[in-house]
Amino acid sequence: MSVETNEMKTVEKRESNVFGMVEPMNHEQVMFFNDKETGLKGIIAIHNTVLGPSLGGCRIWNYENESDALWDVLRLSRGMTFKSSISGINLGGGKAVIINNPKIKHDEAFWRRFGKFVDSLNGKYITAEDVGTSTEVMSIVMQETKHVTGKPQSAGGTGDPSPITAHGVFLGLKACVKELTGSDSLEGKKVAVQGVGHVGHTLVKHLVESGAKVFVSDINQANLEAVAKAHPVTVVNPNEIYDQDVDIYSPCALGATVNTETIARLKCSIIAGSANNQLADEGVHGHTLLDKGILFAPDFLINAGGVINCYREVHSLSLEKTQELVENIYSRTLDIFRKSKSENIPTQEAAINLAVERIENAKKNRN
Ligand code: NAD
Repeated sequence: MSVETNEMKTVEKRESNVFGMVEPMNHEQVMFFNDKETGLKGIIAIHNTVLGPSLGGCRIWNYENESDALWDVLRLSRGMTFKSSISGINLGGGKAVIINNPKIKHDEAFWRRFGKFVDSLNGKYITAEDVGTSTEVMSIVMQETKHVTGKPQSAGGTGDPSPITAHGVFLGLKACVKELTGSDSLEGKKVAVQGVGHVGHTLVKHLVESGAKVFVSDINQANLEAVAKAHPVTVVNPNEIYDQDVDIYSPCALGATVNTETIARLKCSIIAGSANNQLADEGVHGHTLLDKGILFAPDFLINAGGVINCYREVHSLSLEKTQELVENIYSRTLDIFRKSKSENIPTQEAAINLAVERIENAKKNRN
């Protein structure tokens, strides 16, 4: 199975049939699950397992339709393949999505049933927390399967991965500043952070402590108030975050916020944040950013702290080794910028090429 990069050209095309969506991204396996008793309904996508078992969080979301859910899980699992590969860890890419039904209770039976479905894949997919799930949920899932990470510390896990993710994003962001100015100091730099949830809030802390002037937006009033209470930040309207006169835009909420409309509005010279799949169409918007002279830190490269933390649980890595893998994000981001410059290709493409190269080499060595 190949993960060749020309898939980038087709990846944004929505097809009306399942295989039409699955084939262009080269997934190994897609499992649809449905449990009448608990109302659990969802999809697990296993993109690639050449480097190791696929790992990725379980997201629960109010999808408008089933095709949106499939599209989400396919894109996210593919991103996990690249994330683990470029981070130098021996994991493949997978993801689970659960189609939320507001009438259904997310009780113990619901999550245990999910655990059973994960277990039926015999370790080919390892789950973890993601949007809408938590370490507490994982402590229920682990009663049905050992193929689970992101467990609470009280259950032998490493707990909430967000602080380590935020640290990696901060390092990636500093590498961007280094690339453009020759120094990675953030003193006086203006940063617009979209989304101040688990990762965004901690990132704001790092930024403020480094002397940056931070602008924040969120649609959740409680999260906004918490960050404004803890740090000297300027709160802006969610829709005005793209118009701020800042050096850096840091998307830490949703994917696809870097698109034709927002790129035209952005005044920054750097985009670096935690959200997955920031480019709405990676075959198009990577080039738009390159042409416009905006330096883009590929999200799967700089937000890898969370998956590195999960890897620590799978392989019982020491904290030192885990930290070393996260610290590498800084130098690897600079490597990607060099590659992008020398080959005159978008940074996203340079990062995907490097990730694919490692997978292809592993395949050759295995053969
Ligand atoms: P979170 O749910 O804790 O925080 C997201 C925040 O974004 C929330 O406060 C939400 O209200 C806000 N938000 C949603 N829509 C918004 C909008 N239109 N404008 C402004 N704010 C908006 O999630 P998180 O764990 O902090 O993760 C943030 C992003 O980083 C997600 O895309 C996630 O997939 C990605 N990510 C997280 C981790 C991790 O370790 N938590 C790891 C890798 C990637």
